[in-house]
Amino acid sequence: MKFSEAEYWNGIILYGLNAATYKIALGKTLLDLTQRNQQVVTWDALSQAYLDNYLSRLAAAQAMPQQSNPARLTIMERIVREYQLGKLTYAQAVEEVGLRAFHDVIPRFQTIGTDREIVQGKFYNADFGRSLNLTEALFRVADGEVANLQSQLDSRWGLLEGAFQISHDHSQLANDLRGIYLLNGYHRTNLTANIPFLEGYQANTCFYCGEPMAAGGVHVDHVLPRQVLHHDEIWNLVLAHQDCNLSKSDRLVGEHFIQKLIARNENIMGSNHPWKGKIERELGSSPAQRAKSLRKHYDNAKEILGAYYWGGAAGYNPEADSFYRKLITRLNNKKGAF
Ligand SMILES: [Zn+2]
Repeated sequence: MKFSEAEYWNGIILYGLNAATYKIALGKTLLDLTQRNQQVVTWDALSQAYLDNYLSRLAAAQAMPQQSNPARLTIMERIVREYQLGKLTYAQAVEEVGLRAFHDVIPRFQTIGTDREIVQGKFYNADFGRSLNLTEALFRVADGEVANLQSQLDSRWGLLEGAFQISHDHSQLANDLRGIYLLNGYHRTNLTANIPFLEGYQANTCFYCGEPMAAGGVHVDHVLPRQVLHHDEIWNLVLAHQDCNLSKSDRLVGEHFIQKLIARNENIMGSNHPWKGKIERELGSSPAQRAKSLRKHYDNAKEILGAYYWGGAAGYNPEADSFYRKLITRLNNKKGAF
């Protein structure tokens, strides 16, 4: 299975889970560094370029949060803050970055989804604490594309900040909705018990990417995130690859998946399975009522999560994303599942 170098780059930028903005900043830094036409970059030059990216991003008086936990600042936010307050000189800030900012992001950047082998060493090799060796592949990907790739990274950075901002600062309505779901919710039940039932409605393919699923690799996923709904009702459960499940995480899906879920639920309602009674009790007794109830929950989840979409956009559909489908097939093959 062949991926192009540009696909590898996009895979790194678009498919990982981001608990903070480090990866995006490193992507921008690597592109900046290609503009110097030097293959070997000193740790100091790397630290400086990385710091400069954060300094310009956090220059605004109302800098956006760089990670999801509102009680904490990232290492880079602390360094930038201390520099802005005059506690660190620029040279000291660069040194701090070199010493403290790279332990996670340098080893982890070259990862797609949950896989650390596919792209390891593709764009750089690190002599940690000393230098970074940029590969020919990085220069080829950057060639003539720096402006485009930088703007892709900037919009990604903005999306992450927006999602982190929402987790810090909920509107009253979002807080009220959260409270209602929490009040009516219950602790997680044993989801694997639902697999045999749900399999009958998915023809052994993943709800999200449409690729086949191997026995043992099937995961039960909440289409609307459990951390919003706090329940395991069957109308919101589908089967997916482990990697699709992880990649989606607790984010919103696009409207096309809501339509697909409504159709799937109507399939269950058309059968004689006793569990159809559960769906009727939860969503309503007619197809129109059920569609309306499900959409109401979707709207509530949007209110609570904001524009926190899988893939960064409401239109993202892994079923139509050939790179994503190839990637999932490759990850599954690697596990020896087929
Ligand atoms: Zn899948």
